[in-house]
Amino acid sequence: MRRRLIAGNWKMNGSREALAELDGIAAAADAAAHVDVAICPPFTLIERAVARAPALPIGAQDCHAAPGGAHTGCVSAGMLVEAGATLAIVGHSERRADQGETDAQVKAKAEAAIAAGLIAIVCVGETEAQRDAGEAEAVVAAQLRGSVPVAGGEALVVAYEPVWAIGTGRIPSMADVGAMHRGIRAVLAELLGAERAGTVRILYGGSMNAGNAAGLLAVPDVDGGLVGGASLTAAAFAPIIEAAAG
Ligand code: PEP
Repeated sequence: MRRRLIAGNWKMNGSREALAELDGIAAAADAAAHVDVAICPPFTLIERAVARAPALPIGAQDCHAAPGGAHTGCVSAGMLVEAGATLAIVGHSERRADQGETDAQVKAKAEAAIAAGLIAIVCVGETEAQRDAGEAEAVVAAQLRGSVPVAGGEALVVAYEPVWAIGTGRIPSMADVGAMHRGIRAVLAELLGAERAGTVRILYGGSMNAGNAAGLLAVPDVDGGLVGGASLTAAAFAPIIEAAAG
């Protein structure tokens, strides 16, 4: 049985003052006993977030594949562990687009995160042009084959995030979400074997909010959500946590 995971991605948002939102988010997480909840703030807030909400898993939005060395501006998985993080998002479409991250780099980051003891959330998803061209499932399958580490088991989480749904208020039809998540599970079974693939949580991400969360979470093989904008405040995020708790 896979526990649902609702993870918030604060992106390059948040300040020390914003950490006050963690109080309400932690309370909602506490009330949702069978749901895992996490927040991924910017690197600079990780240690303070852990101190403010010790019971709430805190994650990072990226990590470097190397344990250390001459990589100016980067942060290693070990450094994240030292800061108190327990998970890391890797391969978010904004990093794939803005930093030109390749599948091979994303896979190396995920391997490093898992080796350091973190849960790695590997993001995949098609652009609108790719969906319009009927290529969405093939694009996502290729991303999975290139980005998913063969080690990991329960430390591996996959987030399906259609690029065109991120921050737009638009979401795919429930039928398309279901087909994609079923397809992702099938590719994971090829890569990891059916038994291990069955333990991997597959999150949906892209404009999830209080109004659509229950519907998205009811789709088979949707094991939770990766939430951007609606994770920035407890008022917006708590209803999503409550929807996951059923
Ligand atoms: C995201 O960027 O991971 C995301 C899901 O953003 P939003 O919820 O704002 O669409």
